[in-house]
Amino acid sequence: MDIVDKLAEIFKEFPGIGERQARRFVYFLMSKNEAYTGNLVSLIADLKKEVSRCKECFRFFINKKGVGNLCEICADTNIDSSMLMVVEKDSDLESVKKSRVYTGKYFILGGLVPIVEKNTKSRVRIEELKKKITSNNKEPDKLQEIILAFSLNPQGNHTDQYIREQLADLLSKQNISISSLGRGLSTGTELEYSDNDTLKNALKTRQ
Ligand SMILES: [Zn+2]
Repeated sequence: MDIVDKLAEIFKEFPGIGERQARRFVYFLMSKNEAYTGNLVSLIADLKKEVSRCKECFRFFINKKGVGNLCEICADTNIDSSMLMVVEKDSDLESVKKSRVYTGKYFILGGLVPIVEKNTKSRVRIEELKKKITSNNKEPDKLQEIILAFSLNPQGNHTDQYIREQLADLLSKQNISISSLGRGLSTGTELEYSDNDTLKNALKTRQ
């Protein structure tokens, strides 16, 4: 494997990038000067230093000094903690947050549950989610509703079902309701690319 192959292999792992695009990235980098590639390398190195994962919602955030290990949403005591929206990934959280249609807290599941999958628990944060629900059961911040917000595709639907099954006992014991974003989103919709009106509608018609 030469250096072109090695780099292309890495780019191929990026979301949505295939073999041909990965190679185009490598040739693009070859055409750039050293200042450009040097800057890219140091930004990538700094990314891991400056970004932390929130210990409450598992979201990545820029860890400014003194902030601690909570992101600004989880650290904000004014945010409504009676609602918890469960999303697949960081970019989903960011688009819902940007839309300002939802004012509660979030939880990042870390993936979707594939339809054919034996070892599900290692792929999504189901145990962490259960722990969070159990720990948020005290007044005045008691959790009252879980909102599942996954993309409307077979894998998203499967994940929705899986989470409902996994949480059923816990939620009925603690009297917490569960709903799913749905009606307002059309089939195949990626949450991440939904506009404000669509999200608002999907939230209003959750069931
Ligand atoms: Zn957080």
